[in-house]
Amino acid sequence: MCGIVGVVAREGAVTRSLRGLQALEYRGYDSYGIALLDGGLRVDKDVGSIGRAVEARRFDALPDGALALAHTRWATHGGVTQANAHPHVSYDGRVAVVHNGVIENHADIRRKLEVAGVTFVSETDTEVVPHLIARELETERDAVTAIARAVSQLDGEYALGIAIAGEADTIYGVKRKSPLLLTWNGSEAMLASDQMAAVDVSDQLVYLHDGDIVRLQATGAEVFSVDSGLPRRVERAPVTAARGYERPDKAGYDHYMLKEMYETVDATRAALRVAPADLRGAIPPSAERVTLIGSGSAFYVGRIAQYFFGRLVRNNVHALPSDEAPYWMTFDERDAVIAVSQSGETFDTLEVARLVVDSGAHLTSVTNVPNSTLERLASHRLPQSAGPEICVLSTKSVVNQVVLLVRVALQIAADRDLVPRRDLEQHQQALEALPATLEALLGQSDVFRKLAAEVSSAEHWFFVGRGPLYPVALESALKFKEVSYRHAEGLPAGFFKHGTISLIDEDFYTVALLPSKRAEPERFRATLANVSEIVARRGPVLGFGPDNVDEDDVRDFASYVPLPYLDDDVADVVVQLLAGQLFAYYCALSLGREIDQPRSLAKSVTVR
Ligand code: GLU
Repeated sequence: MCGIVGVVAREGAVTRSLRGLQALEYRGYDSYGIALLDGGLRVDKDVGSIGRAVEARRFDALPDGALALAHTRWATHGGVTQANAHPHVSYDGRVAVVHNGVIENHADIRRKLEVAGVTFVSETDTEVVPHLIARELETERDAVTAIARAVSQLDGEYALGIAIAGEADTIYGVKRKSPLLLTWNGSEAMLASDQMAAVDVSDQLVYLHDGDIVRLQATGAEVFSVDSGLPRRVERAPVTAARGYERPDKAGYDHYMLKEMYETVDATRAALRVAPADLRGAIPPSAERVTLIGSGSAFYVGRIAQYFFGRLVRNNVHALPSDEAPYWMTFDERDAVIAVSQSGETFDTLEVARLVVDSGAHLTSVTNVPNSTLERLASHRLPQSAGPEICVLSTKSVVNQVVLLVRVALQIAADRDLVPRRDLEQHQQALEALPATLEALLGQSDVFRKLAAEVSSAEHWFFVGRGPLYPVALESALKFKEVSYRHAEGLPAGFFKHGTISLIDEDFYTVALLPSKRAEPERFRATLANVSEIVARRGPVLGFGPDNVDEDDVRDFASYVPLPYLDDDVADVVVQLLAGQLFAYYCALSLGREIDQPRSLAKSVTVR
């Protein structure tokens, strides 16, 4: 959520910070703003996306001097208005602040400051911060001490970028739970929420720890920890930025989503290259229980993997949404937890990960961003290596995560001799054939374009499937609603008749996901039986399934999309995942939606 970029340089700080901010736009894009020094602090901010504002040359007339502090917002407190956009400035015009996160006790602080005579100009939780710092600066000359005193009054999570009038060569940063990193090269320094903005400056990145305050200048940084009260100088060693995470472009595709669906082929190859020892390390032999946690699509990845872990490893396996897990799970050293998060910064997942680490349980991270907070917390890392994913909707990352986790299950089943070798080999061969199969499906994507043109106007949708195709239905429905803004729900096909079927009429569309007819004949028939029940109530049903069906099998469908199956369910779920992504994409395209940045969403959800 929200991107922060602060720059100090000899000159050109505005241009540099805007360039960095555009690389972070996927983190939040409802409004933007920039603070710079032009005599005193000057702020330019508005609603809308930073990309569009730069295109419209909004900032061209700003003095491009030594300091800039820029922000792109994903609103948590206060509507999407110009006044609520960041940066926020203190009552005396001395302090400008950008913030990622939530100040939980903002209402109490606001009340106290109002009693003391401060007038607020926004509805945000953030605005208390510049006022608190300005008050401390009235009596304290050292900015780090003043900032430390101010943030000691805050509850919640925050990454803060701070500029102070009169300090043209310095930017301050504070981190608690939200990510913040810094880098410098002697003539320029940057404070940023993501390495994608910072690698332009240097590949040596310093990740701040919780409770750190930094004084950053072009020539270097001084980091202070305030964990134990007064600021104390600490050393934070730089790490080398991972390669391949430089800012990508659309490479001629209309949307990042389309490009990234094409990249599912390479993302699958990357997951197939992970070494057996790395897969093995995900679950130590002593683990009595395995829990997969994630949020949104990453949770559904866990739900898909749960089927294969249950069947192949026969472990005690649960998949839980990160936001709910703390309410009913306790962990101890007998637990193995696999946390899945594309960004490695998902707030809800990090909260559970911290509980897991504190309990002595084993934590494995599955993340696509090297050096992310989740990777740094984990006792074992499974790097996705799917390459940067920019579209807010996760496509290649989901595919890569499923293949990785399925491979963990197969590896453990092989090591512990839990499944006949013949079966394992068959799954392995099917996985190896997946890249070419996904390529074949992408070659047929025009089928989805045509289908979408016919059906995308329908308002209500169900996605149904049985077995591992049930969580695939959940994921496909999520993808569909995220980008089409149509109402869509995923359900187990067999559960449908126990109530939900009362909603079916000729306007309520269903997409039924069918398993392989050859490999899963019973499940195939059972799903078709559920389809007949819907069709009997005049509900139009679209079928996505194998390409070796008879005419009789597909008689009930309003449309049937044959998919290039491998007749192996660990591989066919991946084919279905991509089919769901293509369908969502082309429906959104035909509805004229904002595809890479759907309304109200952000890619990296770093708030509670
Ligand atoms: N809570 C702040 C706001 O609503 C910051 C949100 C963000 O992280 O973008 O303005």
